[in-house]
Amino acid sequence: MYLQKDIEFVKTVGPQRAQVFRTELGIFTVEDLLHHFPFRYVDRSRFYNISELNADLPYVQLKGVITSISGFGNKRTTRLQASFRDETGTMDLVWFQGIKWIRESVKAGTPYIIFGKPTLFNGVWNMVHPELETQEKFDENPFKGFQPVYATTEKSKTKGLDSKGIMRAMHAALKSLPSQLTETLPDEILQQHQLHPVVDSYLQIHFPSDGELLRKARQRFKFEELFYIQLKLLQNKQLRTEAHKGRVFGEVGYLFNTFYKDYLPFELTNAQKRVLKEIRKDTVSGNQMNRLVQGDVGSGKTVVALLAMLLAVDNKQQACMMAPTEILANQHYTSVKELLKDLPVNVGLLTGSVPESKKKELIAQLSDKKIHLLIGTHALIEDRVKFADLGMVVIDEQHRFGVEQRAKLWMKENPPHVLVMTATPIPRTLAMTLYGDLDMSAIDEMPAGRKPIKTLHKFESSRLRVIGFMKEQIRLGRQIYIVYPLIEESEKMDYQNLMDGYDILRREFPLPDYYISIVHGKMKPKDKDYEMEQFVKGRTHIMIATTVIEVGVNVPNASVMIIESAERFGLSQLHQLRGRVGRGAEQSYCILMTGDKLSTVARMRMQTMVHTNNGFEIAETDLKLRGPGDITGTQQSGLLDLKIADIAKDGAILEAARKSAIALLQDDPHLTDAKNQVCKQQLIKKRQGKPNWSKVS
Ligand code: ADP
Ligand code: MG
Repeated sequence: MYLQKDIEFVKTVGPQRAQVFRTELGIFTVEDLLHHFPFRYVDRSRFYNISELNADLPYVQLKGVITSISGFGNKRTTRLQASFRDETGTMDLVWFQGIKWIRESVKAGTPYIIFGKPTLFNGVWNMVHPELETQEKFDENPFKGFQPVYATTEKSKTKGLDSKGIMRAMHAALKSLPSQLTETLPDEILQQHQLHPVVDSYLQIHFPSDGELLRKARQRFKFEELFYIQLKLLQNKQLRTEAHKGRVFGEVGYLFNTFYKDYLPFELTNAQKRVLKEIRKDTVSGNQMNRLVQGDVGSGKTVVALLAMLLAVDNKQQACMMAPTEILANQHYTSVKELLKDLPVNVGLLTGSVPESKKKELIAQLSDKKIHLLIGTHALIEDRVKFADLGMVVIDEQHRFGVEQRAKLWMKENPPHVLVMTATPIPRTLAMTLYGDLDMSAIDEMPAGRKPIKTLHKFESSRLRVIGFMKEQIRLGRQIYIVYPLIEESEKMDYQNLMDGYDILRREFPLPDYYISIVHGKMKPKDKDYEMEQFVKGRTHIMIATTVIEVGVNVPNASVMIIESAERFGLSQLHQLRGRVGRGAEQSYCILMTGDKLSTVARMRMQTMVHTNNGFEIAETDLKLRGPGDITGTQQSGLLDLKIADIAKDGAILEAARKSAIALLQDDPHLTDAKNQVCKQQLIKKRQGKPNWSKVS
C-alpha cells in the first residue's frame, strides 16, 4: 500500500528529515504527507511589469536585469540595495540580512526572475528580501504556476523542512502516486455529490493547474473530512443505542399531570410544548435519550427540565440536575421548590458548600430513594454519590462541563436519559460537529408579554447623558447593573478600572439617596454574597461588578445593563450579560459603552448587539467573526481539529455530508455492503489514531 509507506522512503526525505516530519509535523506516512494541505498558494504563473505594480498586489513575480549593487551603512554594511530594471521601469531590491552571500552570488547584467511583495517608498518601488533566481535556474524548476505554501515549524525550517522543503517531498510523493489508487469514498457518494476523484484531487490540491480544478479538489477533501466525522458520530450514537436498552417511561403519571394542570403558573410557549413532546417521545422509544436543548436566556428551559424530571419520578425513578455554579444550583433549587409547592416530591440540594454531615445524610437518602430529585453542582458526580435508580439527568449550561464529566453521568450500566441545556446557542453547523451524536431541540420563542430589550451603543462622550438616564431609571424604581471586563492577563488594570469606575459613581450617586453594591473576584465569598443579596433584595440601586454575574442572578426589577469597555467582550458574552435584564414587566435597556476607536470587528459586534436579541443569530455572527476555535466549548473537543474544512464557511458541505452519512447508515447500519467497505476501512483507521511521537522521544 503506497499510501501507508513510511515517510522516510519518499525521495528527498531520508531518515533525518523523516524524524522531523514525525516529531514536528505529526507526519508518519505518505498519506499523512498528502493530507498536509497547503494553507495558501502563490501565483507564479504570470509575470508582472514594473509599470503595472500597485500597492494592493500580494506577492508578484517579475523578470528583469540587475543593473547595479551597492552597500549602505558605516563600518559594517547594514543594507544592500540593487537596481532592478525591466522594459517598463526600474525598482530597488533591498536586503538587510545575508548581505555577504547576496553580494558574492548576484551578478549585475544577468537576467533574473524575482518574487516578493512590492511596496512604494518615496515614489520608488521596493522589494525587500525578494526570492531570486537566474533565468536558467527558473527554467529547470518544475514548480511553476500556483505554488503551494505549507504550514511548518521553526525547528523544521532549520532542518530543511521549510515550506519549500515540504513542497519538494510532496512533489516526489505525488510523482510516484499509483494512478489506480483505491478511492476513499464510495462511488455512489462521489457521483451523487460530483466529487473529484481522489488521485487527481491530491495532484490538484498541491500543485493546481488552474483555479477551478483547485476548487474541485478542495471541495472533495472538505466533503470527505466532514463526512467521516459525521459518520463516526452517527455510528457512535448507533452503537450506544444498540448497547443499552433505554428506560421506558410508560406512564405520564400523577405528578406530571397535576403539575401541568394545576401548578404551572403560565401557559407553556409552543416551543416549550414542542420540546416537551420530543422528550416524551424519546423516553418511550426504548432508546436512551441524549438530547441537547438550546434556548436563549429566559426562554424557559427550567420548567421543561422540571417536567422531564417529573416523568422520571412518576415512573418511580430518580432525577438530577447539574448546574455549573453554586449560585445557579441554589437558584434552581429555590425555583423548583417554589414551582412544586406541596406536591409530594422530595427535592435535595447538593453543592460544595453543603456541610459534610448534611452531605452524608443526603447521600444516604439518595440510595434509599427517599430523595426523588437532586439539584446540585459538580458535587453530584463524586463517586460516593450513588442513586438508587437514576432515570433522568439534566445538565444545565452544558458547555461549561467537559465531555468527560458529561460521560461520567451517562456511562452507566443502565444509563439514565440525558437532557443537556444551553443558553449559549451554538450555530447549527458547529452543533452538528460538536454534538453530532446528540439529538437537538431548540426553544426558539420567548414567553409572551416580554418586552424586547432595547440595546444602545454609546461612546464616552455620551457619559453624562447615560448618567442622567440612570438617575431617571432609579427614580422610576428600577435597578441597574454595571459590568466591567476582567481578563486574566490585564487583571491588575481591570481592577483599577473597576475601582475608578466605582469612585466616579460614588460621586455621581451619593449617599443617602443612592446605594451601590460592588462585587468582584477579590472579595471574600461571604462579602460577595452579602453585596449580591443587598441588590437582589432591592436595597441597593446599582450593582457594579466584574463578569462574575454572567451566570445566575435573577433580579426581575433590574432593567438596565451597562457594559463598560464593551469592545473587550465577545459577542456571546455580551449577549449573556444582556440576558440579566428584561426579566420583569418593565422595558429594559442594555447600554454598550465603548471607546471612540473601534476595530472593524468590534464595531460589527456592537452593531449585531444593537440589531438583534436573538441568540441563534448572534451565535452565527460570532462564528463568522471569530472562527470556530474561539467559540466556547470547542477547544476541549478536539473534534474541530479540521485539516481543510471550515465550520464557519463550509456549512453547506457539512449539511450535505451529514445527510449522506445518515442515509448511508440507514441503508446499511453495520456497513456490511461490499460498496461500503471503503467507509468501514476509513472509520477503523480514524479510530486507531496515530502514535504520539512527541511523547515517545
Ligand atoms: P432559562 O431558559 O434562561 O433557563 P428560565 O427557565 O429561568 O429561563 O425562565 C425564565 C423565567 O421565565 C422564569 O421566571 C420562568 O418562570 C418564566 N417562564 C418560563 N416559561 C414561561 C412561559 N411559558 N410563560 C411565562 N413565563 C415563563
Ligand atoms: Mg436557566
